Amino acid sequence: MLRNDQLDQWDRDHFFHPSTHLAQFSRGEAPNRIVSGGEGSFITDRDGRRLLDGFAGLYCVNVGYGRTQIAEAIAKQAHELAYYHSYAGHGTEASITLSKMVADRAPEGMNHIYYGLSGSDANETNIKLVWYYNNVLERPEKKKIISRKRGYHGSGLMSGSLTGLGLFHRQFDLPFPQVLHTESPYYYRRPDEAMSEADFTAHCVAELEAMIEREGAGTIAAFIGEPVLGTGGIVPPPEGYWPAIQEVLARHDILLIADEVVTGFGRLGTMFGSDHFGIRPDIITIAKGLTSAYAPLSGSIVSDKVWKILEQGTDALGVFGHGWTYSAHPIGAAAGVANLTLLDELGLVENAGTVGAYLTRKMKAAIGDHPNVGEVRGEGMLCAVEIVEDRAQRRPFDPSRKAGPSIVARMLEHGVIARAMPEGDIIGYAPPLCLTEAEADQIVAATKTAVEEVCAGL
Ligand code: PLP
Repeated sequence: MLRNDQLDQWDRDHFFHPSTHLAQFSRGEAPNRIVSGGEGSFITDRDGRRLLDGFAGLYCVNVGYGRTQIAEAIAKQAHELAYYHSYAGHGTEASITLSKMVADRAPEGMNHIYYGLSGSDANETNIKLVWYYNNVLERPEKKKIISRKRGYHGSGLMSGSLTGLGLFHRQFDLPFPQVLHTESPYYYRRPDEAMSEADFTAHCVAELEAMIEREGAGTIAAFIGEPVLGTGGIVPPPEGYWPAIQEVLARHDILLIADEVVTGFGRLGTMFGSDHFGIRPDIITIAKGLTSAYAPLSGSIVSDKVWKILEQGTDALGVFGHGWTYSAHPIGAAAGVANLTLLDELGLVENAGTVGAYLTRKMKAAIGDHPNVGEVRGEGMLCAVEIVEDRAQRRPFDPSRKAGPSIVARMLEHGVIARAMPEGDIIGYAPPLCLTEAEADQIVAATKTAVEEVCAGL
């Protein structure tokens, strides 16, 4: 086995890490962690530390670490047939079975799945589907996409444009001009303190209506949103938000893409976030929970309404000209089948609902009254703690004081991983769906200690 100091040197000299301060990392000023194992909700690293992973990797290891059932399905597939493509009608037992399993679990009337490798590429696909759809319908002007401020839809060129966070745009020449960002459904950051949740929903809807009016409905193809804002701060929507938004979109013949990369396959205590909020999307983006990240796989679930037009397009134009070499990769598909089977066998969707609610409830009870905690919020197995300098004014700390990152670093010393969300001092939690109440207690205890210790020194 290679020595840790050797790995550390190679890591700093050669590994271009995503979402990392490159200069600090090269200089050895930012920490690294060499992760070596995992079991249930815990990971272990090469320094021998065992950490409770309160973010399930990047909200993706939904069934938890170390599931031999999935590992064996992957190994079996690799032995039998590691790869074949899925162009021109080719498939494997795994890719066909997975398609049936996903369609059976998807909202009604959503029956075809196009596969990719990441949430980002699935959203690239989605925009191409939407543009193709409108071209087949002979509406070449209907191409703009409305996304939301603080939405996160990936890091590609189009998916990064859909993302509504400056970090993913600055110096990358994004967003593309076809993408418009409307109001974020972030009640805590409402423009007027006196607004009720229902008022704020009406405000978000009015902003959307005004944007559609300004641009012309005939130029707008689709709206994309996460059922619960994820990377933008783990923010459940205000009361009545989705039905009201959906009504506006339907009235203007604008397609709805539900980005369920985080919420798909159980995280909210329902199979999809769309079920949870009564959303009827035209396309759903899936990734992470599809395989619990045991292998890279993503997908676009396409409604019958959209599918019919895509079919019509190929009757007119011939072969559908969009494909990835690794679409429906057999190893990813085998992992997906084993993962969805395990999700059912272990009752993890239900567990996400009950233990997730327990986590948020306990978090509120433990630190909800702390003078630097502006809000504790959650939905299913997603939870967030927003740290502020002034609770009454909802005034954040200056980012240079690094309140969020310091709390997360301190939590690590207490054996728990949480995530400092990229914009604002927001501590995010998205544990594996197999989390137990005792583990939830451990997350809450580490948070309480870290918040008290760090805030006392700020
Ligand atoms: N969409 C959402 C809602 C996400 O949270 C993410 C990643 O966190 C993505 C898309 C992008 O997925 P990936 O990182 O697999 O490209």
